[in-house]
Amino acid sequence: MTGRLQNKAALITGAGSGIGLESSILFAQEGANVLLVDINLEAAEKGAALINRRFPNVTAIATKADVGKEQDVKDAVDKAVKEFGRLDVMFNNAGIMHPADDNALNTEERIWDLTMQINLKGVWWGCKYAILAMRNNPVDEAKGLHTGGSIINTASFVALVGAATPQLAYTASKGGVLAMTRELAMVHAREGIRINSLCPGPLKTPLLMDFLNTEEKRERRMVHLPMGRFGEAVELAKAALFLASDDSSYMTGTDFKVDGGLTAAYVTPL
Ligand code: NAD
Repeated sequence: MTGRLQNKAALITGAGSGIGLESSILFAQEGANVLLVDINLEAAEKGAALINRRFPNVTAIATKADVGKEQDVKDAVDKAVKEFGRLDVMFNNAGIMHPADDNALNTEERIWDLTMQINLKGVWWGCKYAILAMRNNPVDEAKGLHTGGSIINTASFVALVGAATPQLAYTASKGGVLAMTRELAMVHAREGIRINSLCPGPLKTPLLMDFLNTEEKRERRMVHLPMGRFGEAVELAKAALFLASDDSSYMTGTDFKVDGGLTAAYVTPL
């Protein structure tokens, strides 16, 4: 049986936890070799070891990188190409939501800058070095498909709707990811490089659950969720798999919402 990412090479940032970890596992299950990139090397190594144990037909490698540093991102892409011979999928997923991120009056400039450095510049650099690597991939004439590559950038539902519980720098950074992704998608469409954003709703991962650390804070969000529950990281991994694979071959520049209906809601069920 062949998987949906058979013989492809993928690099995933923020692969030590949440969406990144679940995507690494799923991509490997579907036949991809995966480079798991995280600032937390131990977490990425654990993920790679799990994949290598579970799926001996593929190779998973872990490497440490801070996506807020251009050289780290370049080195990670170079490593993927060196180890796997090519790069087909780049999942720019790492991101932070700083506890001191607040409204326009209370957010300190250093928090704004740190958030932009990781969430927005990190995605820019990921795209830049992935595009350079993907330009070396041959186009699959036999299939009639442009297989230059697929880049997926994790944004958020807060890039689409406003929240009265603000994290201003985070929201602005994710809005930037959407705008940047659309433009990159247009610039590189005829090279066969597809670039899409993934817009998750609120998920049960450490990033959000550490932030919503009381029942009251969680309930304040829950009332807005039509499905009445937070999402699971694996539900986002399944969407990322679709964007990564040739199943989405006619999609580029989209804001792919996987949010339990949140951004379509006016009044939610009781
Ligand atoms: P998570 O906290 O479970 O995992 C994030 C991973 O990124 C961690 O392993 C962390 O070590 C790594 N990381 C943090 N800073 C890094 C850096 N500078 N360089 C490299 N790695 C770094 O989070 P998650 O919920 O899986 O979030 C993944 C993405 O999804 C983020 O971009 C986040 O903004 C976005 N998102 C999450 C939610 C949610 O509710 N959890 C909603 C919308 C969007």
